[in-house]
Amino acid sequence: MNRDVYFENLKALAREKRAHHAVRTHSFGLREVRKIYKDEGVRIDPWPLPPKIKAMYMCADGDFSVAVQRKLPDEPKLFALVHELKHHYLDQEAIENGVVLCGDYNQNELIEKGAEVFAAEFIYPESEFYELVQSQNVVRWEAETIVHLKRRISAKVSYTFIRKRLKRLGLIVRGEYDHLRFQKLEEQMFGLPFWKTRTRRRATG
Ligand SMILES: [Zn+2]
Repeated sequence: MNRDVYFENLKALAREKRAHHAVRTHSFGLREVRKIYKDEGVRIDPWPLPPKIKAMYMCADGDFSVAVQRKLPDEPKLFALVHELKHHYLDQEAIENGVVLCGDYNQNELIEKGAEVFAAEFIYPESEFYELVQSQNVVRWEAETIVHLKRRISAKVSYTFIRKRLKRLGLIVRGEYDHLRFQKLEEQMFGLPFWKTRTRRRATG
C-alpha cells in the first residue's frame, strides 16, 4: 500500500475510534484515555522502561498491555498512550514476539510513523486545527504568533505537535523553530504558570 493511502486510512480510523469513544477535543486527557484502555481491555502496566523507550505494547493469548515512560509530561504521555492504541487496533499480526517498543530511535519506521499519524488525528483532528489556524489570519508564523496560537488550542498537545502540524500545512518550513524553547518564550511573554510559581516558592523556602 502506498504510504499516503496508509496514513489517510489511519486518520480515518482515528476519527472513527474518536466517535466511537465520544471523544471531545477540549476534554480529552489522561483520565479519558485510561477509560478507553479499560473499555478496550488493555491494561496499563507500571513497569519501568529503559530511557530510549517511550512506551511498549504487548499482546499474548488475548492479554493486552501497555507500559509508558512514567517521567513523561502529560502531553507526550497522552500522545504515547494513543500511539500504542494504534498498535493494539492494527499491528497485532505484524509485531514479532507480541511486543513493540516505541521511541525516537525507530520513529521513522512505517509502523511507528503510522502510530504517530493516528495519535495526532485522534487527539486533535487536522480539520479542527486547520479551522483555528485559518481564523487567526496570520500572514507569517513567527515564534510569538505560535505561542498565541498554542494558548487558543484546547487540545492537550505540545509545542512539538503544533510545530509539526504547521510544517505539514506548509506554514513554516522544515527545521524552522526546531530548537526554539517555546515554553520558555511563553513564560517570558505571559509569566510563569501558577503551578510553577508555587513550586518555586516552596523550593526557595
Ligand atoms: Zn509504536
